[in-house]
Amino acid sequence: MKQIAILGATGSIGSSTLKVIQANPSEYQVFALAAATNVEAMVSLCRQWTPRFAVMHDEQAAEQLTMQLASLNLSTSVLSGQAGLCDVAQHPQVDAVMAAIVGGAGLLSTMAAAKAGKQILLANKESLVMSGQLLIDVASKTGAQILPVDSEHNAIFQSLPVDAQLQIGRCDLQACGVSKILLTGSGGPFRYSDVESLSTVTPEQAIAHPNWSMGPKISVDSATMMNKGLEYIEAKWLFAADKSQLDVIIHPQSVIHSMVQYVDGSVIAQMGEPDMCTPIAHTMAYPNRTPSTVSALDFTQVGELTFLAPDFSRYPCLQLAIDACFEGQHATTTLNACNEVAVDAFLNRKIGFTDIARVNQSVVEAVCATQSAHQLNDLESLLSLDEMVRKLAQEHVVKVV
Ligand code: NAD
Ligand code: MG
Repeated sequence: MKQIAILGATGSIGSSTLKVIQANPSEYQVFALAAATNVEAMVSLCRQWTPRFAVMHDEQAAEQLTMQLASLNLSTSVLSGQAGLCDVAQHPQVDAVMAAIVGGAGLLSTMAAAKAGKQILLANKESLVMSGQLLIDVASKTGAQILPVDSEHNAIFQSLPVDAQLQIGRCDLQACGVSKILLTGSGGPFRYSDVESLSTVTPEQAIAHPNWSMGPKISVDSATMMNKGLEYIEAKWLFAADKSQLDVIIHPQSVIHSMVQYVDGSVIAQMGEPDMCTPIAHTMAYPNRTPSTVSALDFTQVGELTFLAPDFSRYPCLQLAIDACFEGQHATTTLNACNEVAVDAFLNRKIGFTDIARVNQSVVEAVCATQSAHQLNDLESLLSLDEMVRKLAQEHVVKVV
């Protein structure tokens, strides 16, 4: 049985991963579960899955979980913090790590899994945006296999030839006959709203995604299209793509999850219901296939598929991310960190929806005026830039209101 560590077990991706495991109980075993601070949710997951390890974000939550598990006579060992996450990510008995923590909090454990040569089912796009070449290089060195869970990247992966699939992070798209990667996005809940009205959008409106059910941070990122911007950067690293090989297309129905265009004019797309259980099951079973609980598309009910070019005045965060992508690692690490702070401030009603892009732009400009990508060759310098940017972004959040 394949032993899986699920980091971010109580979240949207974590729950979908457990659903896929539940549908295939003889194939996969839950070796470890990790979450932030929701002790009640972890108690119930530990009862159901009896993992060897459970990891909580802080010691207090870990203590509470330990007591509750003891009263239930469960033998799961409880760990805490980044050290606990890294311990389970690199545990010798783990075959695959589902990296599904939200935000930069997922970087160290993703890196630990890469250092230990694990199979990494990568949902946490922020870790790749933050560390880019470093993560790819570590994985290449140890032989860690990165399999993209993000639906677009999973679709691109599935639409590429096997040679390219086996060379994640260093494939030669041109040699494979690929002319372009077409990254699709629904445009989020405000794709048809009057741009002037966006300044009064509430967190409830922003997280109500028309097609996908996701955690709050990625839902806000989808509304600003920062999510597509982060995915653009993620695609650059996963598929070693340059600017001329990456395009973003708005596809409101989310039936096509992304496409690969070849030099002969062929376009290969991956389609399916907008349900993350499909890409999760694909990465878990790769190179085989396994049932995912998702029903097949009924093409007679799909209706029209439409496509349009992104309007950057509606989605300034998308432009910021594309610019940062080719500015360098300092710019993408900065953008990721300040966006997390800005989205959190928006969700806590400290700033407005359109202030997210304002904070992001001013922080990236300020940092890029003094930093360069050359100063970022190791994890420590990436983390110290991340920390500095989060503090600066807090100051900009206060200024913007
Ligand atoms: P979510 O908010 O629903 O869940 C996040 C999980 O991370 C929770 O289990 C939470 O407890 C855990 N977590 C947060 N901080 C932690 C910390 N410091 N230590 C340990 N655990 C911590 O988020 P989600 O929607 O499941 O997204 C998770 C990741 O997957 C994100 O990076 C997101 O971009 C990516 N992703 C999600 C989807 C989706 O459909 N939800 C699709 C593609 C990619
Ligand atoms: Mg996605």
